[in-house]
Amino acid sequence: MIGYGQAGGKILDEFLEYDQRTGSNIVRAALAVNTAKADLMGLEHVPEDRRVLVGQSRVKGHGVGADNELGAEVAEEDIDEVMSAMDQIPAHEVDAFLIIAGMGGGSGSGGGPVVARHLKRIYTEPVYALGVLPSSDEGGIYTLNAARSFQTFVRETDNLLVFDNDNWRNAGESMQSGYDAINREIVERFGLLFGAGEVEHGGEVAESVVDSSEIINTLAGGGVSTVGYASETIEREDTGLLSRFRGNGSGGDDSLDAAQTTNRITSLVRKAALGRLTLPCEVDGVERALLVMAGPSKYLNRKGIERGRKWLEEQTGSMEVRGGDYPLRGGDFVASVVLLSGVTNVPRIKELQQVAIEAQDNIDDIRDESERNLDSLVNDGQDELEPLF
Ligand code: GDP
Repeated sequence: MIGYGQAGGKILDEFLEYDQRTGSNIVRAALAVNTAKADLMGLEHVPEDRRVLVGQSRVKGHGVGADNELGAEVAEEDIDEVMSAMDQIPAHEVDAFLIIAGMGGGSGSGGGPVVARHLKRIYTEPVYALGVLPSSDEGGIYTLNAARSFQTFVRETDNLLVFDNDNWRNAGESMQSGYDAINREIVERFGLLFGAGEVEHGGEVAESVVDSSEIINTLAGGGVSTVGYASETIEREDTGLLSRFRGNGSGGDDSLDAAQTTNRITSLVRKAALGRLTLPCEVDGVERALLVMAGPSKYLNRKGIERGRKWLEEQTGSMEVRGGDYPLRGGDFVASVVLLSGVTNVPRIKELQQVAIEAQDNIDDIRDESERNLDSLVNDGQDELEPLF
């Protein structure tokens, strides 16, 4: 997992914290890359020897100031440093690479796709990106950066998973506490998705457990993906109040529980797919989908997952809908994560591109105009004065 730039680094940090807290072991190896030294120093969970400062000769550790063309240039110039940090990773132990970056900024927006291109050239494992779209009130330059980075990421990766900050804005919250909360939401969703592929097979778990190859097959074919999520807190039978009422020896509880479990699952699948997606889009027409049901194994059943999967097939019109369990020991919730891959009907991206084009035209106009204005300020108009040399 490579966190590139400020947003990328912070989200990577959050994934590492998640791994430590839940024992998920999603991140086999972490790498934070940035042009800004201060951002690298602010990370808490990325080990110091897994932080790479690039572009030092050009920007002296001060960042690229939201210039993503410069971000891409310095990444290309210093690519050897990034790739040699990757050399230490035993590639046969990783299922895939994930590059995380804010697409509206400079370092990650420009440098992320450069790293993707080089990883793809060297490794056979798939290279994905998790790209964050800026919220619409961030202004023209961020939107333009994001629109260009989005295009480039799609071209250079095996799949671009998108998270749209605009969809998660909370009025009245400060930027920083807002981002911290958003980053937790990101990791909650993608953590369950990627964590599902890490479960060891065999032992007590059933054969319906999601395998990393199912995640990879769902993402295969490239393009853009979005993720839906819904969860419900459960009262554990062994500790909860209900256990006292249920323990009446009637013996009829099992069938009731099975029906409840199935209904809970199907309702969570609907909520996940029709609720707030990481990138809002039309579900109909999605190419492939994967349903992951996470929770303590006794709250998961095959019938529920099969129903949820069928429902997703109807909603998406896709023939390629996979599904499985992610048994969590000791959790107090059941959650569904729906990965929709190969999305094409995304009005938000069309709007973003329109605003980006307007911003680009404006920037060009203003640049032309200010050149003319400066010229008329500096020159006397009659060519009577001459510069010194
Ligand atoms: P870079 O350091 O030059 O790559 O730029 P940033 O990572 O700061 O990217 C700026 C964009 O990322 C902004 O437009 C924000 O939309 C977004 N962003 C910055 N920090 C965070 C964060 O912590 N979380 C999330 N979700 N988005 C962020």
